[in-house]
Amino acid sequence: MDLDKFVDSDLEQILEKRVGIVKARTIVVASGITSSHLGDERNLREFLFADLVTNHLRKKAVNVVFFLFDDNYDPLSFNQLKVAVRKDEKLIRKFEHYCGTPIKLIPDPYGCHDNYSAHYQEEILNRFHKLNIFPNIIDSWSLYESGVYDFAKEIVFTRMEEIRTFLKKEFPKYTVEKIFWPLCQQCHKMDKTTIDKIVNKQVAYSCTRCKKHHIVSWKKIKGKFSWKIDIAIKWNVFKSDFEPFSKAYLDPDVGSYFIAKSLSKEFFGGHFPEVIQYGQILMDRNLSYTLLASLPNGVLDTLFLSRRKSDIKLSGQKVIQLSKQYIVRKNISFYDYVQTRLPYESLEFFGSGKSLPELDDTMKYGGEFMRHILKKEILPKLPTTQLLNRLNIKDLIKIGELLDWVISYKSTNPSVALETFTKDFKDLLGNEEINIAKLFPIVRRLLSQEKGIAINKVFYYMTNQFLNTSRYLLEKQINKN
Ligand SMILES: [Zn+2]
Ligand SMILES: [Zn+2]
Repeated sequence: MDLDKFVDSDLEQILEKRVGIVKARTIVVASGITSSHLGDERNLREFLFADLVTNHLRKKAVNVVFFLFDDNYDPLSFNQLKVAVRKDEKLIRKFEHYCGTPIKLIPDPYGCHDNYSAHYQEEILNRFHKLNIFPNIIDSWSLYESGVYDFAKEIVFTRMEEIRTFLKKEFPKYTVEKIFWPLCQQCHKMDKTTIDKIVNKQVAYSCTRCKKHHIVSWKKIKGKFSWKIDIAIKWNVFKSDFEPFSKAYLDPDVGSYFIAKSLSKEFFGGHFPEVIQYGQILMDRNLSYTLLASLPNGVLDTLFLSRRKSDIKLSGQKVIQLSKQYIVRKNISFYDYVQTRLPYESLEFFGSGKSLPELDDTMKYGGEFMRHILKKEILPKLPTTQLLNRLNIKDLIKIGELLDWVISYKSTNPSVALETFTKDFKDLLGNEEINIAKLFPIVRRLLSQEKGIAINKVFYYMTNQFLNTSRYLLEKQINKN
């Protein structure tokens, strides 16, 4: 799918302006994650927009890179841990004493990676790769440890009061909390530490977790800047040009973007990125963690990239509506495919002796869509004897004739277009004076398409094999009487 159509003219202008100014360096698109857990699909919009801009510029022969900053110096919170281990009580008990510790310093709960952060970083990246997003990861832990931020430490520790006064004056509605979070050298946690004073390049801090006071030179102190300071520094180190922000970050009085921008100008070099503004995703709870598995990338892209600045309310209904517009297998909407063809394709697949990894993507997504969104069983259901016994013989004969027409029409016109089929089908209904209102609800029940798609489509897309078998069962029932 060509995604460039999602770059609206406003955004195009923003891109062109900055690219026009920047001459002798690579354009940087940036965004951030915290490898503390794998969240649900809600936060994907930000990354899809960052990736959209990256690819759009690359197509225009702009040299561009997408940096994904992982805030893995951040302390783990109890809520993050709960989501991360999917509420596994045993793992929660085993790991809760790490809350407050930077995630890079915590062991992997599942034991398969070097540390906690590496585990969830890979889960997040796998998800991005599935969406064809391939950013470059930059660990914030490594940024601090390698000394990249040392120049900023000097600024912050020599001018801390100045920074506070500046923020108070420029953003009176914003309350400055901590500017730097020391990492306690005793307990290796940082959620309960406070700087007490800075004298002669020595920082005195205390930790209420282990009730200790420490004094260390600002060159040697471990810890991280508060987020707004951190991003202002990052902008200047990496020369970020474009970053996605939602409305919450763009409040002129207290929004992180404007605060970081002022801090950057006043203290750290003045660089700042242009905003790729996007609206937030509000999602029905029961859709959480189901969308990635159930929707082809094209549906997800349309879902998240349309109407960039508007908030989107995601419901099952909305997902179904979009899946009706997305074409798979060259000529059928994803929704129609799932309703009418997938059941028989699945039967064939499982009868073929192939193994699950050989399932093609459309079938894979279709199966999950059926399960999570439509909440139906995948395998086709033939008309049951119970149902047939309850039906009127005259109706069954009429329906049998209808099926005969469809089966023979489709075998003599194997590549007929849906439009032609529909037209001829409607002519038949008119000519034969078929009572649609009476018969179609019965047809739907017989073919397990109660809430499915239009009958003409059901007949068009269903395999003749299945229609034949259904027809055979009807005939048997008619002969019984
Ligand atoms: Zn692991
Ligand atoms: Zn401590």
